[in-house]
Formats: sequence, C-alpha cells, structure tokens
Amino acid sequence: MSGLAGRGRDALAVVLVGDELLLADVVDVNGVWLGRRLAEAGLRVVSTTQAPDDVAAIVTAIRRALMDAPSVIVTGGLGPTSDDRTTAAIAAMSDTATSIPNPVGSAAGIRLQQADGVVYALPGVPREMRAMAEASVLPDVLSRAGDLPVTRRRSLRLVGLTESAAAARLVPLEDRLAHDRGATIAYVPSPGEIEIRLTVRRDADQAAAEAALQTYMSMAAEALGPAVYGVDHDSLAAVVIRTLVRNRITCATAESLTGGALGAALTDIPGSSAAYRGGVVAYATDLKHRLLGVPAYHLARRGAVDKTTAIVMAEEVRMRLAADFGVATTGVAGPDEQEGKPPGMVFVAAAGPDMAPVANALLLTGDRGTVRRRAVVHALDLLRRAVLGLPMESPAAPRR
Ligand code: ATP
Ligand code: MG
Repeated sequence: MSGLAGRGRDALAVVLVGDELLLADVVDVNGVWLGRRLAEAGLRVVSTTQAPDDVAAIVTAIRRALMDAPSVIVTGGLGPTSDDRTTAAIAAMSDTATSIPNPVGSAAGIRLQQADGVVYALPGVPREMRAMAEASVLPDVLSRAGDLPVTRRRSLRLVGLTESAAAARLVPLEDRLAHDRGATIAYVPSPGEIEIRLTVRRDADQAAAEAALQTYMSMAAEALGPAVYGVDHDSLAAVVIRTLVRNRITCATAESLTGGALGAALTDIPGSSAAYRGGVVAYATDLKHRLLGVPAYHLARRGAVDKTTAIVMAEEVRMRLAADFGVATTGVAGPDEQEGKPPGMVFVAAAGPDMAPVANALLLTGDRGTVRRRAVVHALDLLRRAVLGLPMESPAAPRR
C-alpha cells in the first residue's frame, strides 16, 4: 500500500473548480499549496481532481472526493457571477451549510456537513483561499482528525548517478521498506541531480518515526557513497563553497559553454568570496589560447571541445588566478553541432595541488538550457570530489 492511500482520519481530498484550469489557461497553484501545507500539518491529500464550472460535474466530483476522504476542500467558483457554480452545487447537495469567513476578500466560504464527511468550499483566488484555509479550515480538520500519526521526512541529495543506478544500489533498502507500511521512498530528479526522499509515519510515536528514519537514511547514504553530496535543503553549490571555506581552499573557474553560469552558481552562495577567486569566460576558441594558454596547435588539431583542452583550461586558470583548484567546462550546448561534435558533448575538468588533473567526458541530453545547467552541476561535482579526494565516477549519460 502506498503511504498516501486509504481513507483515514488524516486523509483529505481536494477538488479544484474552474474551466480555466481544465483548459490550462491558468496554472493551478491552489492544489500545489494545499498539498504542501496539509502535509506539513500531518495530513494526507489522497486525491486531487479538477472539475469544470458545471453544477452536475462539481456535485459528482465532491461526492467522489467524499469516498476518498472524510474532509474535502473545494476551491473556486464561489463568486456571484454566472460562471461561478460551486455555490449552486453545494446547495444542490444540502440546505444545512454554514459560512466560512473571508478575512481578505468579499466571497465567504461554505462549510457543509455531510453524513460521510465535511466539505469546505473556498474561493479560487489563491491569496483568499490560503488565508481561509489557515484561519478556519486547517484548525477544523485537525480537531476533527484527533491524534494524528507522526510523519517525518528527510532527503539525501545525489549527483553523478543516474536514477536507475541509484535505484539499483537501493534495492536492499527498498526490500526493507516493503515490510514497513509506514515508510516510503521517492526519487525526485532535476537536471544532473536526484533527491531521494524518505518518509516514515508512525502512530503518534515521534521517537519511533525518527529512529526508523535515521536507520533508513544511514542505509541509503552507505549504499550511495560519494554520490551523496548533502541532505534536506542543501544545494550543491552551497556544499562546495562550505567545503572550500572549511578547508581554507580557493578555486577559480574557466568556462566555455556555461558562459559564466558556473561562476554565477558559486557566487550565488553567501560567503563565497572567501573561497572563489574568480573566473575566465573564454567562449571564443582564440580566447582559450589568448587568456588561458591552451596551445594554438592543440586547438587547431583537436578543437575547443576536447578533454585535453578542458584539462589545460583548469590547470591554467588555477595558476593564472592563483587559486588552489581550477575547474573548467567546454562543450556543445546545442542545438547545432560544433566542430563535428554533437550537442550535449561536454568535458569538465579539475586541477589542484597534490593531484593529477581529472576530466570527465559527458554526453548530456536535453535542450540547450538543460545541457548548460547540467554541465554546471557536473563541474561543481568534479570540484567537490577533487577537493574531498573522493573517487571520480565517470557518469554514463543520465536520462535527464
Ligand atoms: P471570485 O469571487 O473572485 O470570483 P471564485 O471563488 O469565484 O472567486 P474563481 O472565479 O473560480 O473563484 O477564480 C477566481 C480567480 O482565481 C480566477 O482568476 C481564477 O483563475 C483563479 N483561480 C481559481 N482556481 C485557481 C487555482 N487552482 N490555481 C490558481 N488560480 C486559481
Ligand atoms: Mg469567480
């Protein structure tokens, strides 16, 4: 059974009303906010449905939602205009509704008690919906739910492994989780990175939830090894800067296809000035020679998108900018090929004291922006591994 299924006291169903949502003229933010906020409060959103501005369709959606959960939150369609049909739908279901005050707007909400649960209808305007959910709906749902199971969630953040490679290493953990009905694992990928989310629920027992979560986190961290760069809300760039600062180490960047994005990622982090010396953006091939000393004959013979070019860029920027470590990117962002090399072919390199320079050859998928973002991630990871003396895995082309 999935951790979210089941019509428990802590279950909620959400119904989002509005033709504009179904037509995708408006991107839903109410369902997203409710999902997050209710989970924070220890509740579970077990289903979210969208319904058009139509009385029969809204009634059907609410009735179905009541089969999923004893609390249903409806948003949208409460206003006085002819396209707002939620009020009529609620009226069609019963005549014993009470109103929910709206502290920030004119349209009041409706609380409707049914035999199988309670329906809370709120306005569609996100700001009003949020204010009323906080002030009235959440407290009411929580008091009706009574003692809730305790939910604890933590994340590991990985870089340099594909989703399938990560999953393969986590088979023993997943086997163990299969015997724990209160525990779930989720893989949340973003370009170049994966977040592994572990969630544990225990009946009103916080210590048990925390102990189990700690065990699972340790198992996962051990199985994933140096691919784990951080936990919870860590970011790769922040971890790199923190590591450099802690070890009193400086770095410099030599960038081609990332055009300064690597330096931008590092300087985004408060305190980066203690660790980041600066960078050279050598976008044109001749600048790789003029500013970074890549031999002209090498560039003529092997091109700018080349492993040795990346290594020389990293070594030279390290020397020229007087930094402990140098890190470099060169590659084809796309959409067109360059020097006969395909879009997504990227080399990242790092050079530092007491180490032979290292480079990774990557074949990154995705559009131009994605290739560039992922090149930044891989360069940061190479720097992290070089500074910490961690093994360099040569990542196979990840899916995203
Ligand atoms: P009002 O009294 O302001 O008309 P209402 O309850 O009738 O409020 P709607 O008319 O359905 O709500 O929507 C009001 C505004 O909120 C519209 O601009 C609509 O696009 C927006 N809205 C509705 N639902 C959502 C949602 N799920 N996510 C984001 N915006 C939404
Ligand atoms: Mg309206």
